[in-house]
Amino acid sequence: MQTRYFRDVLLDWNARENTRQMPWKGVKDPYKIWLSEIILQQTRVEQGLAYYERFVGAFPTISDLAAAPDDRIFKLWEGLGYYSRCKNLIHTARLVSEEKMGQFPDTYNDILELKGVGSYTAAAIASFAYGLPHAVVDGNVLRVLSRFFGIATPIDTTEGKTELTGLADRCLDRGDPATYNQALMDFGAVVCKPASPVCGSCPLQSRCAAFRQDKVALLPVKSKRMVRKDRFFLYVVAEYQDGIYVRQRTAKDIWQHLFEFIGHELPAETDWEDYTALLEGAWFRELLGKGSYTILGASPVYRQLLTHRQVKARFIHLKLTRPLVGEAFKCVQKGELSSLAFPRLLNDYLRAPVHAPQLF
Ligand code: SF4
Repeated sequence: MQTRYFRDVLLDWNARENTRQMPWKGVKDPYKIWLSEIILQQTRVEQGLAYYERFVGAFPTISDLAAAPDDRIFKLWEGLGYYSRCKNLIHTARLVSEEKMGQFPDTYNDILELKGVGSYTAAAIASFAYGLPHAVVDGNVLRVLSRFFGIATPIDTTEGKTELTGLADRCLDRGDPATYNQALMDFGAVVCKPASPVCGSCPLQSRCAAFRQDKVALLPVKSKRMVRKDRFFLYVVAEYQDGIYVRQRTAKDIWQHLFEFIGHELPAETDWEDYTALLEGAWFRELLGKGSYTILGASPVYRQLLTHRQVKARFIHLKLTRPLVGEAFKCVQKGELSSLAFPRLLNDYLRAPVHAPQLF
């Protein structure tokens, strides 16, 4: 049968050729597996590795993570993006530590109840930590299965997900689900890659439907095209004496919990050269009160690509004559900026050679 052939060839490839090393491979500690899986949601392995090492070094157990202050955890997470993951990490660590006596859930359904854990992550933790027979199904797995079995049902539809999840379950090696799941994920990452799969040396090639029908580039099928939304910010880096004004973003939006300068979102990309006119707006005049400012510099446009959007920002560096009005922003000493967690876009600005000596 085709499913059996698929499984056997995959496991054989894994035993002979898969040398992909990752620090969490073979680990049975559910805390470390969960940590690695949360980090790897939306993050490439190469980028996630250093963060995993940093977290395990700083918080060797889930109780250590639960006991740490939020700001320290967010600072370690800085640069990884999708900060709701970090929030979920903190929530779960405290839940397990305080309400479950430090015992990580050990059934698929209990793991699935944790915040930020979907069916893929639950299957990964259940199989890697406890050897439970649950097949992981992520984008990698959907791609490999669609191609090998020649399935053209769109993978982003309920119908496609049901069909491929059932197939993934039939392919699973129930004797050793951990090895099988890891092998399939690795195979998708190094052989049956999204672009340029290495069909020429693929051990599944002789029975691969996509290869035989010359449909490798056409599978998997997606029904929707992602529409990218752009956002535009003007940031005012306002200096007063030796401090800079910042605030923590609290709204449910991009960069929640991270710090930012005085920011103003624009409805559309505007004439960036006309930034002085933007500073005349009520949003900034109210903060300024009776004070005035001198412009020290204006940055070029900085960009950060997120999955569904691009964020663009320009930074205006000012020297204030008086402190700002109100408590929306707090003035922190320049030397403290490096201990705050900023979005990557703002860090790019702060770390630019022209600003770093003065600000960071
Ligand atoms: Fe993927 Fe190509 Fe192998 Fe088919 S032959 S499984 S498309 S790498």
